Amino acid sequence: MQTMPGIVVTGASGRMGQMLIRTIAASGKARLVGCLERPGHAWLGRDVGECMGGAPLGVRVSDDPLEAFAQAQGVIDFTAPAATVEFAALAAQARAVHVIGTTGLEPGHIAAIEAAARHAVIVRAGNMSLGVNLLVRLTQKVAQALDADWDIEVVEAHHRMKVDAPSGTALMLGAAAAEGRGVTLDQAMVSGRHGITGARERGSIGFSAIRGGDIVGEHDVIFAADGERIVLRHLATDRGIFARGALRAVLWGQDQKPGHYDMIDVLGL
Ligand code: NAP
Repeated sequence: MQTMPGIVVTGASGRMGQMLIRTIAASGKARLVGCLERPGHAWLGRDVGECMGGAPLGVRVSDDPLEAFAQAQGVIDFTAPAATVEFAALAAQARAVHVIGTTGLEPGHIAAIEAAARHAVIVRAGNMSLGVNLLVRLTQKVAQALDADWDIEVVEAHHRMKVDAPSGTALMLGAAAAEGRGVTLDQAMVSGRHGITGARERGSIGFSAIRGGDIVGEHDVIFAADGERIVLRHLATDRGIFARGALRAVLWGQDQKPGHYDMIDVLGL
């Protein structure tokens, strides 16, 4: 019988960290073998299940990634860009599959992740849900079918604590629309209009962000022409969809060669 892969969750006390811990513990497909938090965090040294207000899970929260990764086959990481880059190098050293959900990564961070992916499997996606990854494919196809008479706008909404904008998902959708159009997102992107902006530039892809309350994540891709409009929409109401996607990715990654993959690869879309 094959043993279940051992998984470390980083940012254990975070919104996604806690959801991932519950999802792994209930899955029957993987074992939780480590939980990480920053040095000085109140949860350090304590059982993570008890920290979350539930039954003990037999895993103590640590601030030592090297030691935690050495005994793991996978690392699931929804934290912050600087931490994720550090974890990528250490997970690659340990040859553990690193699933990255962290958003707001700059080109320098992505270059460091690419370097780590030469030695180990990394799956990175701005959104780990099946529905959003399907929406990415649909967006690409619709953009390919329509010409620049159809203006493309991406509108996203998230909870008040989100620190980056546009969201990682909005950028994935914008990149898919640009790919369908045969341009790069860098060429086409217009974000956060304000003041006397002038008329909309033909062929541009616009982004708007709403922040408020406890919204988990909502994304519209609007294709607007004279006299008609297509709206592709995804509404996330439960963070469990991201955690289940990340678990699926870490299991899928166990059988892959070193490289930098995304959820489209995992889901075979
Ligand atoms: P959160 O509640 O703020 O949790 C982030 C966690 O990471 C916290 O526990 C935080 O600890 C920890 N952390 C931050 N920097 C760290 C460091 N340098 N070393 C160790 N731990 C560190 O945020 P969240 O809502 O869970 O989201 C986390 C990330 O996932 C964001 O980038 C978000 O956009 C992304 N996300 C992605 C998806 C997807 O499907 N790809 C879905 C949802 C969210 P402290 O509290 O001590 O700072």
